[in-house]
Parts: sequence; structure tokens; C-alpha cells
Amino acid sequence: MATAPVDDLACQELVEIVTNYLEGALSDAERARFDAHLEVCEGCRRYLDQMRTTIRVVGSLTEEDLDPGAKDQLLQLFRAWNRT
Ligand SMILES: [Zn+2]
Repeated sequence: MATAPVDDLACQELVEIVTNYLEGALSDAERARFDAHLEVCEGCRRYLDQMRTTIRVVGSLTEEDLDPGAKDQLLQLFRAWNRT
């Protein structure tokens, strides 16, 4: 089933844990939830793609590299994606 409604809260959670996801640091349950959200949320899939590209470019990305301002910017960015 891939018909779960997409809500902002889930998207925000995804942004919070995306670095852990990419580092393989999530628990199985968290990762399953993350993947399930990706199934239904185009904006987050694009966001994840962008994060992967960023990591390739800069070599690595850790939580410490993301200052709060940058995080807010990313969140607004993909909210805009979700609206299109
Ligand atoms: Zn989402």
C-alpha cells in the first residue's frame, strides 16, 4: 500500500533524519518509515536525490555541517517542491 497521505510533519521528520539515513544510522523501523514516506512523497525523493548529490560533491555531510539556517532553507526548498 502506497496511499498514505503526505503531511508536512512527516516531511519535516525526514529532513531531520536524512543524514542518519544516508549514513545508514537509522534503526530498521525508522528506515522502513523513511522508505515508506519516500514511496508517496515526490518532494522528499527529490530532496534525498539532492542530498546524495551534495554529499558526492562535498565528500561528506554530517549533522554538524548543517547549521540551523541551512536546515530551514532546505525545508522551505522542498516544501516548495511539494506544492508543485
Ligand atoms: Zn515528504
